[in-house]
Amino acid sequence: GPALESKAEALAWLAQHDNLVGHFIGGKWTPARDDFATTNPATGEKLAGVTKGTSADIAVAVAAARKAQPAWAKSGHKRARVLYAIARLMQKHARLLAVMETLDNGKPIREARDIDVPLAIRHFYHHAGFAQLMQDELPDRAALGVCGQIIPWNFPLLMLAWKIAPALAMGNTVVLKPAEYTPLTAMVFADICMQAGVPAGVVNIVMGDGETGAALVAADVDKIAFTGSTDVGRKIREATAGTGKALSLELGGKSPYIVFDDADMDSAVEGLVDAIWFNQGQVCCAGSRLLVQEGIADRFYAKLKARMDGLRIGDPLDKCIDIGAIVDPVQLAQITAMVSANAEGETYQITAPEGCFYPPTLITGLSPASHLMQEEIFGPVLVATTFRTPAEAVEIANNTRYGLAASVWSENINLALDIAPKLVAGIVWINGTNMMDAAAGFGGLRESGFGREGGWEGLAGYTRPKASAKPIKRITA
Ligand code: NAD
Repeated sequence: GPALESKAEALAWLAQHDNLVGHFIGGKWTPARDDFATTNPATGEKLAGVTKGTSADIAVAVAAARKAQPAWAKSGHKRARVLYAIARLMQKHARLLAVMETLDNGKPIREARDIDVPLAIRHFYHHAGFAQLMQDELPDRAALGVCGQIIPWNFPLLMLAWKIAPALAMGNTVVLKPAEYTPLTAMVFADICMQAGVPAGVVNIVMGDGETGAALVAADVDKIAFTGSTDVGRKIREATAGTGKALSLELGGKSPYIVFDDADMDSAVEGLVDAIWFNQGQVCCAGSRLLVQEGIADRFYAKLKARMDGLRIGDPLDKCIDIGAIVDPVQLAQITAMVSANAEGETYQITAPEGCFYPPTLITGLSPASHLMQEEIFGPVLVATTFRTPAEAVEIANNTRYGLAASVWSENINLALDIAPKLVAGIVWINGTNMMDAAAGFGGLRESGFGREGGWEGLAGYTRPKASAKPIKRITA
């Protein structure tokens, strides 16, 4: 069928590159080595050998970015043209990108095709517009210079877009390091940069693991933008302290999903499918902590279990699949260990295929202070507790060291609007979840990090103020 054809096409593309992933530096591929493998988690098959970047590779990439930056910062109109070209080429190669993402990460093709790839493209279109606008409307802002960017494996292409599009729009050049499990869509993206006429050195991609990432943090860059775990974020903050490098951190979360007794239960159940089972729950803003008002808890859990029974888990390339593979056996082992160490509450699971899969799981009756209610599992595991009053809901919701997102479900809009600002979260959704847009700033509070990506705040994070001789005109209503 078409899925098999698309897979063959993606594998052929890799074969053209000798099944090896090198670095993209100064507009060219470097000679590649088979230092470590990237595999398809759904089958265990090796997809390609990947080159591990050294400090020397990072230095060459940063020098290329440094050299390219002044010319790149000159014309917003030119940057817009290039960013639009990237967006159009991503559209042209959307199928290759989606299949490559699914092969490398294990996410359902339906999600890669309908969410990851279109949102990544939208990010480039949106920021292309701002590149143009910056030249005309923001003469009092200047680019930072060279930005080092480190991204995780859960949304490899989308996180690349979140990092590269705004940085380039504002006149910066970048050195980006993809996550070790998922380098392949970044490799396709580098090819797209060559076709789009991105000047040499404006986008540099160095492959590698945490050591490569640490070398990038230590390099002569003006900013580090990081998305990943809170532990690594802490190390990066320490390493950049006192260096004058700008820093943004998008870290973990344990976001509350609060269902009041007057909520539309079917919608709230369907929302949970998206909140915790989208991308196998490997989502920083996943609604992973369910808080249900006591009076409806039994009915709500029953409806939720019935919905779980209908979830289809298996081959990520099958268009009918809801739940794909976990990104890597190491991550699978972590999820399994956290859940099996728990002796509290009641666990409900559907069955999963053999291999690197974890079944959608619901654990009810947990106390708010329990390990599973406090720690990020980063898998398809929903933990739940009940509350009596709105005040108690707020108290439990905020009883966490994180503060990334929150969802509130109620048909009483006054109640929802009263609760929302009391929640310590960078983003609050009412009767919805996981809604994002390139035009809206996304980011966390507390140990979920700081800085925003998307929207005006995201653009501001890639500029610094500059004294301007020209009068500044602003668009007003
Ligand atoms: P991770 O922190 O282990 O890795 C993230 C990236 O950092 C990878 O590219 C990795 O190679 C690199 N890295 C590892 N050690 C490093 C070091 N010492 N110095 C520099 N770079 C280093 O996280 P992960 O397992 O890839 O991703 C999962 C985590 O990311 C989760 O905690 C999740 O919540 C978080 N996440 C957050 C957001 C957000 O926007 N807030 C988005 C996606 C993922």
